[in-house]
Amino acid sequence: MTNTRKLRPATQLVHGGINRSQFGETSEALFLTQGFVYDSSEAAEARFKGEEPGFIYSRYANPTTDMFEKRMCMLEGAEDARATASGMAAVTAALLCQLKAGDHVVSARALFGSCRWVVEQLMPKYGIETTFVDGRDLSAWEKAVRPNTKVFFLESPTNPTLEVVDIAAVARLADQAGAKLVVDNVFATPILQKPLELGAHVVAYSATKHIDGQGRCLGGVVLSDKDWIDEHLHDYFRHTGPGMSPFNAWVLMKGLETLPLRVGQQTASAGKIADFLADRAEVARVIYPGRDDHPQADICKKQMAGGSTMVAFEFNGGKDAAFRFQNALEIIRISNNLGDAKSLITHPATTTHKNLTDEARAELSIGDGLVRMSVGIEDAQDLIEDIDNALSAI
Ligand SMILES: *Cc1c(COP(=O)(O)O)cnc(C)c1O
Repeated sequence: MTNTRKLRPATQLVHGGINRSQFGETSEALFLTQGFVYDSSEAAEARFKGEEPGFIYSRYANPTTDMFEKRMCMLEGAEDARATASGMAAVTAALLCQLKAGDHVVSARALFGSCRWVVEQLMPKYGIETTFVDGRDLSAWEKAVRPNTKVFFLESPTNPTLEVVDIAAVARLADQAGAKLVVDNVFATPILQKPLELGAHVVAYSATKHIDGQGRCLGGVVLSDKDWIDEHLHDYFRHTGPGMSPFNAWVLMKGLETLPLRVGQQTASAGKIADFLADRAEVARVIYPGRDDHPQADICKKQMAGGSTMVAFEFNGGKDAAFRFQNALEIIRISNNLGDAKSLITHPATTTHKNLTDEARAELSIGDGLVRMSVGIEDAQDLIEDIDNALSAI
């Protein structure tokens, strides 16, 4: 394809990055191969020297995975990308590839559980220290900076309370500190939020979530400018081997074709569900980045093209009410996953965030009555009726 960069996202996500084989297949080919053969010894030599383009080994790059990476670059407006086996492989690579012993990180404290483990438990073993801040408090980011601060790290909206961090403002502080801002953009999706345009340096995804969107394969991707990838990620990625399987790349690339349709529908339904819940007496608070009563509504409007596919809400009746509600649902299923075509709900205090201390949970406002819902692509009215029925079971 020529000029795909000028096309709009919905078109890029169907046609972008295609590398057709000699058979002229319509659907992208799945190159399930570990290695590649060369026409001659000289050709192998030239390929290894980088004098001739082409693939060497699928731990480095693979034609199917390459199509997925190129399509993601177009969507994100990034120069380069590496696809990984999971979202955690992406986040870990994005952080560790650019850090060394003696470096310092400033991180928002509201993080996906495993991301928090990497920053809080793993990195100190390698001599990398982190200061956790309330991501919403810009002065806290500024105060936490030290002469050896190399990376800022955040997610927005956060899991599970959908707090929103002002990405452009934090990116400016990172620039002033000479640090790189890494954003985990899973909850916002690449359709609703573009961290690189807001000034972030590196974006990481779990492609397991909305990018697959149908609950099948794990995957992840790291995107940035070419210089950063060449300097930091290129060798780390080749030699530590976190790369995505070509099979998963193929599934996830087909997922990208329908990403705008799914996220559009899920976001519209999430907005309707949030409005429905806000009027119910059983519900103490609804947190939805698309509503005017969200604590950072102004920032949401500035940096997000929609309110997201996630809704968090807290019951007046605590854990007991939350459990009764979840158990009474018939369409919406209990699962800690998100971004799926199927609507899913989880009780963070006893599942995704059970490993945090009571104090850390209180700091993040994860109460016993809080549930987090990932809205799927079912008919919105059926979802609302399911919620309405379950509310009467409390
Ligand atoms: C799921 C998730 C991850 C980890 O992704 P995996 O694909 O499960 O490894 C990281 N960050 C956020 C915000 C997530 O939701």
